Amino acid sequence: MPYVYFQTFGCQMNVADSNDIGERLFTHGFRSSDDPAKADLIVVNTCSVREHAEQRAKTRIGEYGRLKKQEAQLWVIGCMAERLGESLKREIPEVDRVIGARSLEGIDEVISSVFPDQNVDFKGIEATDEASEFVSVIRGCDNYCTYCIVPYVRGPEASIPAAIIIDTIRKKAGRGVKEVTLLGQNVNSYCDAGIDFPDLIRAVAAVEGIKRIRFTTSHPKDCSEKLIRTIADEPKCCRHVHLPVQAGADRILSLMNRRYTAADYRDRISMIRSLLPDADITTDILVGFPSETDAEFESTLALVEEVRFTAAFMFAYSIREGTAAASMSDTVSHELKHRRLKQLIDVQTAITREIYTGMAGRKVRLMISGRQEKRDRLWMARDYGCKRALIACDEVPAGTILQADVVRTSGMTLICERTAL
Ligand code: SF4
Repeated sequence: MPYVYFQTFGCQMNVADSNDIGERLFTHGFRSSDDPAKADLIVVNTCSVREHAEQRAKTRIGEYGRLKKQEAQLWVIGCMAERLGESLKREIPEVDRVIGARSLEGIDEVISSVFPDQNVDFKGIEATDEASEFVSVIRGCDNYCTYCIVPYVRGPEASIPAAIIIDTIRKKAGRGVKEVTLLGQNVNSYCDAGIDFPDLIRAVAAVEGIKRIRFTTSHPKDCSEKLIRTIADEPKCCRHVHLPVQAGADRILSLMNRRYTAADYRDRISMIRSLLPDADITTDILVGFPSETDAEFESTLALVEEVRFTAAFMFAYSIREGTAAASMSDTVSHELKHRRLKQLIDVQTAITREIYTGMAGRKVRLMISGRQEKRDRLWMARDYGCKRALIACDEVPAGTILQADVVRTSGMTLICERTAL
């Protein structure tokens, strides 16, 4: 029985792709391995979003090339595979196959041709102890934000037919999955024969066995009232909206080609807060974009202080060759970018801590995600929004929903005690 070892870099969509390919390999008779030196197939799923991400992946692929069994296969898939193509084989000769992000649909044929002895449908997928899984619903991106390589490597937007998504989620529910996170670079662009993203959420909510639905990412320009009303009406939908703002100054938003103003963004936040008053709102922010002034950075800080995000992914801009922003010359120095980033992180971290501390004494509905490794009776969980929690209780399966009191907070974790439902 052959063994496959997976290494996944990058975003949740890559995690979803790796899971999907893993499932296909299992139906071809593979089993998973946690030791690349013993695996018959090593699959490295790569990210291109930053130069640094590609360098890390190349280093790791080189290591796998040196330690793999002589007859083992080394496949590089995903965004870097799409961007660099067969040139990767010249750079790292131990690589056997390069399968770009846009060609993953055809991976069954590659598996069958490289491993012809492996029967399809060798064995069904076993029950899972993972309560929560990702499901891609739309691939690619048409937005061309000027700093981003994704539209070039992932291609134009293509919605996965709703029937396929629902069938995938039914199968997951049959294996014991309780929560799905619907993924796309811009889920609000989802459209399949008149079914839009809010319609898709309702269809997913009708799948028996699914208790919670999450999704990411919403582009602010397309975040509709219909979507937020659907979340408000649908009890299975978690109260969490991830809405990347990127910057708080209109000139920078325009240079980024984000196609909304800071005022538009504030309007979206007001709409979300009025329809979903308890929702966690999170964001992504990029500081030090070419020509960003001190005053423009201050606008970003002011927006962060005003909106009070539950959490934020914060980055210093770095040049990505092949994007429109790479040709913008008026760059912000490395030191200044990192000083701004630190200042922003300090502001956001204080807000996040205040939000967590303010949860003490509140009742929450937690979904158990798994056991906390170091402690016997301690379980990791997530609330109805996006907050992490720990709860002490006896053996409880992942995916169980518990009512709990927040007794205190520790950094960015809610410490909870179980209460009767
Ligand atoms: S919306 Fe913008 S940042 Fe997001 S993937 Fe598309 S181009 Fe990149």
